[in-house]
Amino acid sequence: MTIGKWTKKWTVPKSSGDGDWVVGLSDEKVWGCSCPVWKFKKEECHHIKEIKLGNQPEINQSEINKKPEYVLAKVLKPTLKDDRLLVPLVPIGDIKMSVTIAFTMLKYGYSWTEIKKIRRLPDSWTKKAVLNYVEEYGEYTYPENFYD
Ligand SMILES: [Zn+2]
Repeated sequence: MTIGKWTKKWTVPKSSGDGDWVVGLSDEKVWGCSCPVWKFKKEECHHIKEIKLGNQPEINQSEINKKPEYVLAKVLKPTLKDDRLLVPLVPIGDIKMSVTIAFTMLKYGYSWTEIKKIRRLPDSWTKKAVLNYVEEYGEYTYPENFYD
C-alpha cells in the first residue's frame, strides 16, 4: 500500500487528556492516525471516523511542512544543510542580514510569528516589508573574512 505524503492533518484529543492523536490524509488519499489501532493494525480507528465526519478543523498547512531546525553558525549567509538552517551570527543593528535571515526562514516554512519570536524582531517589522526589501536589494551575504 502506498501511503504517500500526508497533505492534510488534524488532531483529536486523547481520551486520557494527555495530548492529541494526529490524523492525516495523504496525497494518495490514504487515511492514517498516530494511535495504535491504525499504527499496528492499519484499521480505521474512531479518530479517523471522527475526522471524516468533519468535526475538527484542519491544522494549518504551514504547521505540517517540516521546517529545518534553526541553528546559529559561523556561516556567511543562511545555509540549508542536513535539514538544518544554519544562520549567521548577526551584529546588533545589521538590518541587511536580519532581513535576509527572516526572508530565508519564510522560504523554509517558518511562520512570520515564529520568525519574529526567534529573531526578536521589532514589532514594526512586517512580512511584507521584508519581502519588499529582498526584492529591491537582494539577499545579503557576508564577505569571506567576516569572522576573522
Ligand atoms: Zn486513531
